[in-house]
Amino acid sequence: MKQLLVILVLLSTQINAQDRDEKQIKALYHHALTEGSGYGWLHHLSTKIGGRLSGSLQAQQAVEYTKSLLDNMGLDKVWLQPVKVPKWVRGTPEFAYIESAPGITNNVAIRALGGSVATPFGGLKAEVIEVKSIEALKNLGREKIEGKIVFFNRAMDPSLIDTFQAYSGCADQRYSGAAEAGKYGAVGVIVRSLNLRLDDFPHTGAMSYGNTPVAERIPAAAISTNGAELLSTTLKLNPSIKLYFKQNCKNLPDVDSYNVIGEIKGSTHPEEIIVVGGHLDSWDLGDGSHDDGAGCVQSMEVLQLFKATGYKPKRTIRVVLFMNEENGLRGGTAYAKEAFAKKERHIFALESDSGGFTPRGFTIDANEKNYEQILSWKNLFEPYLIHLFQKGYGGADIGPLKDDRIVLAGLRPDTQRYFDHHHSDNDTFEHVNQRELHLGAATMASLVYLIDTYGIK
Ligand SMILES: [Zn+2]
Repeated sequence: MKQLLVILVLLSTQINAQDRDEKQIKALYHHALTEGSGYGWLHHLSTKIGGRLSGSLQAQQAVEYTKSLLDNMGLDKVWLQPVKVPKWVRGTPEFAYIESAPGITNNVAIRALGGSVATPFGGLKAEVIEVKSIEALKNLGREKIEGKIVFFNRAMDPSLIDTFQAYSGCADQRYSGAAEAGKYGAVGVIVRSLNLRLDDFPHTGAMSYGNTPVAERIPAAAISTNGAELLSTTLKLNPSIKLYFKQNCKNLPDVDSYNVIGEIKGSTHPEEIIVVGGHLDSWDLGDGSHDDGAGCVQSMEVLQLFKATGYKPKRTIRVVLFMNEENGLRGGTAYAKEAFAKKERHIFALESDSGGFTPRGFTIDANEKNYEQILSWKNLFEPYLIHLFQKGYGGADIGPLKDDRIVLAGLRPDTQRYFDHHHSDNDTFEHVNQRELHLGAATMASLVYLIDTYGIK
């Protein structure tokens, strides 16, 4: 009899908890969809400030703007964490053309890769050798490459459902192409844009010269997918055509910048910290709405939603807008360094940096026990069409926080259209949908709510 009573009490507590969780999650989604602030914040960040490359005036304006938003949110603490960031400037617009015969030219759209050196003052004109991989350079050898522009033309694999996987499968050309081609005497590098569709937008992104001496660095630029197709076809007709390109970007000394941080102190376990964040910097092309203005406003919205629904977290909830994810990861590195130095106990970090599209779920980097715990909440997300709870990567900025106890997670939106925009002039505010953006914020807030309520085992 007593046993039965215990079972009944346990069961009713469980039912009450389930009921409470359902109600709180419903309130988060309801508020996000009817009175969400993220879209308005993103409008300002994107259209009044714009592209926010590390070290730029716009990056500083974004720091000031988001800090003022957090200041007005009624949080317990808001502060700026200093971080030194690299400063690379694009200079005047790049210019390129294919010369199929003397005087017969076709312009193609290019943009310098972030961190690239300039071409010689008058530009650079040379024959082109097309390759599909870094491996292929080795097979060609110096004889075939010396004095030429290397054209990396491996396309993203359209058969992959996860477009980030297709992206990763090609990113080495962009990141290391110039360092590798330089070893064989190439004079410049042109890389096919990491974009799944054919259009005229070149997509920039980080590149590195590794340990190549400064004097031996060769300029590198991305060409639009349409440009890449044209260049490739032209080369097939006549391998001795030439490409001209001109860019005057440069690297300047590091400058001072900041991570923007705000927190609600936990009511019963203030020493346990939950981080939610995105990166405040963006590339200078477009206005960085999807990458990663969306993630920043969604992260701020998580705290706003708790305030608006009257939810008082047990643990400390901290929003971190990281600086310099795109070309250095200095913000994420500095944040983790200080957290470890101060022996702060971070139990969970959630990043949104995959675009502001319809949320599908999360990728989770955790031990088996914690992963199972998150999976047990799956049914609470069903009404909101959130189905993906997959083991995987959390995010670049929260990566440095990894230790053997923390749970890291990334918001996973639908990514089929993400690479139409990523790192290009086409990453602009009009491509973000208000409802999709706000659903993402509510999805993040719901998981943070559950972690806050039940803790991490
Ligand atoms: Zn990003």
